[in-house]
Amino acid sequence: MDCISKENLKRWREKNKKPERKCVVCGNNFEIEMDKKYVVKSIEAVMIVYYDAIDCPKCGCQNIIWKRLEKVNKFVEKTKK
Ligand SMILES: [Zn+2]
Repeated sequence: MDCISKENLKRWREKNKKPERKCVVCGNNFEIEMDKKYVVKSIEAVMIVYYDAIDCPKCGCQNIIWKRLEKVNKFVEKTKK
């Protein structure tokens, strides 16, 4: 990293910024990497709810990103009327 000046590195990071997440447990800000994301299943009342989740690289705790809803087949929807 010595060959890149701090200023250039900062600019490069701004340009290539990935969506960030603040850990709900330790408050650490970390980048959401696509390949580290996974889907979790939660049973709430009688409904099964799926969420995208990522583990904080600092404390390892699970952070829920957003709900993931089940895809519906458009063809089936159309034929219902
Ligand atoms: Zn954390």
